[in-house]
Amino acid sequence: MSTSNDDALAILRDKGLKATTQRIAILEALMSERAHPTAEEIHDALATEHPTISRSTVYETLSRFSEEGILDPLQTGDGVTRFEFHNHPHVNVVCIECQQIADVDSDHITPFLEHVRDETPWQVLDQQVKLRGLCHACKATKQP
Ligand SMILES: [Zn+2]
Ligand SMILES: [Zn+2]
Repeated sequence: MSTSNDDALAILRDKGLKATTQRIAILEALMSERAHPTAEEIHDALATEHPTISRSTVYETLSRFSEEGILDPLQTGDGVTRFEFHNHPHVNVVCIECQQIADVDSDHITPFLEHVRDETPWQVLDQQVKLRGLCHACKATKQP
């Protein structure tokens, strides 16, 4: 068993979720890369290795994982939900033209979240930070 398989298993057990082969495969797919795939993309990526996996299984699993806080759903401007594994605080930058999402890490994010937690009356439940703008490629086509 690979490390990520063990990790996925541990997360499902921790949340009291039944660790089916398909759930493990979906979680592993999201843990292994810092992409922000759609349900459709996750389904297509898994379909070769798991031909019996249905779209509805993928959709249901993603929504269950999101409810449990395992995944963060991300809304971009095109009405499609993208998902990422809830790993560490970072900022998502979303391109308003091509809808691509990139992660930006910064040492300032954790202190900022701690500031909100400790010095404001707010109990933070979701710490998704999102900026919208133009990616490098779209910026280049907009400004000839
Ligand atoms: Zn773009
Ligand atoms: Zn991200």
